[in-house]
Amino acid sequence: MGRRVVGIVLGAVVVLTGSPALADEPAAVQVVEAPKVAGTPRYQQTLSVVAGTYDPAAASEAVQWLRDGQPIAGATARTRTLTNADVGHRLSARVTVSAPDHSSTVVSTDVVSVRGASLTYTRKPSVSGTRRYGRTLTAHPGLWKGGTPTIRYQWVRDGKPIRGATRKTYALRVADPGHRVTARVTASRRYHETRTVKIASPGVTRHRRDIRKVVTYSVVADGVPTSRLAVVRRSLVQTYQDARGWRASGVKLVRVARGGSFTVVLAAPSRVPRYSSVCSTRFSCRVGRHVILNDARWRGATRTWRAAHRSLRDYRHMVVNHETGHWFGKNHAGCSARGSLAPVMMQQSKGLAGCRPNPWPKLSELGLPRFGWRP
Ligand SMILES: [Zn+2]
Repeated sequence: MGRRVVGIVLGAVVVLTGSPALADEPAAVQVVEAPKVAGTPRYQQTLSVVAGTYDPAAASEAVQWLRDGQPIAGATARTRTLTNADVGHRLSARVTVSAPDHSSTVVSTDVVSVRGASLTYTRKPSVSGTRRYGRTLTAHPGLWKGGTPTIRYQWVRDGKPIRGATRKTYALRVADPGHRVTARVTASRRYHETRTVKIASPGVTRHRRDIRKVVTYSVVADGVPTSRLAVVRRSLVQTYQDARGWRASGVKLVRVARGGSFTVVLAAPSRVPRYSSVCSTRFSCRVGRHVILNDARWRGATRTWRAAHRSLRDYRHMVVNHETGHWFGKNHAGCSARGSLAPVMMQQSKGLAGCRPNPWPKLSELGLPRFGWRP
C-alpha cells in the first residue's frame, strides 16, 4: 500500500518535469522531496540529515555540513553533534545526489540557527526579606545544573526595572510602598543560552508602619486667593503620603472638604500673628487646631534654606512636617551633632546650628504621636 503511494507520487513528478533529455547527455536526478535537517539546533545536541526522495529511487546522498555557508572540514557524516564552534552560527547541509546513468544533483537543506545549551535550575532563584519601607530585600541565585552560572540581578517595581538596582540586595525606596518589588535573576554561561528567571512578588511593599490612626484635615486660605490652595492640597498629599514622613509612624492623613481634626491655613504674612502673639509675620506657626503656613515662606522658603541649596519643594515638606508635628504634640528639638541631619522638629527656618537641612522626621522622632492638642 505504502509503496503504491510512493509510485504515484513519483509518477506525478515525472509527468511534471519530464522534458525529454538529450540523447548524449544523462538526465539529472530529480528531487521529489528535498532532504531536511532534523533535531534540536542546540549546543551538544545532534542534528541529522533526513534523506530526501528522488527519481530514480536508487539515488544515493553525500552530505557536507556547512557553517554560515562554508563547508566544515571533515563534516560529511549524516549526523552532526553540535560543538561550541557551532553556537551562534547558522548550519545547513549540502547534499549531492547521485544515481547510475544520471548526472548528480546538489540540494541544500534549510538553514538552522544553533543556540547555546539550556541552563536549568534545580532550585529556583528567590527573594527573601520583608517588603516594607526601611527594610532590605535579598535575591538568591538558586541552584543550577552544572554549577553556578554567572548571575546578574535586576530589581523591578511593578515589572519595570529600577534604575541602578542591580545588586544582590535592595534597600526599599521611597517610591516602593504600594508597589510590587521583586528581582529578575539572569543566568549566563559560555555556550549556553542566557536565561532570565522572574520571581513573583507576594504582595505590595508596605510603609514603615501599618496604619494605626487615621486623621482628617481641611485646607483654607486666609488673606490669599483660594485659587492658590490647589497647589497646597497637592503638596500636602505628597508630604503626608511620603514613606519618609509622618506616614512612617502609622498615621494616615486624609483631607476632608471642611472641618476635620485640624486645619491647614495658607495665610498672608500679616495674618499670621492674629492666631497668637507667639506667631510672627516672618514664619509659619501652629496654634490650636490651626497649622498655619506663612505664604511668604511657602513661596520663597528662607535665606538659610536657599543658602543650603535645598529646593523649595523640600522646604515645603519640612514646614508641613514641622508644623503638623506640633499638632501631633511634638516639641522643638535641637541639633544633636554638627554635620548630622537636623530633626524635623528643629526650627530650621531660623538656623541650622551646624546640622544639615532635613525635611523629614528622623527615626527617633517617629514614635507614635500623642495627637496631643486638645482644646
Ligand atoms: Zn516649631
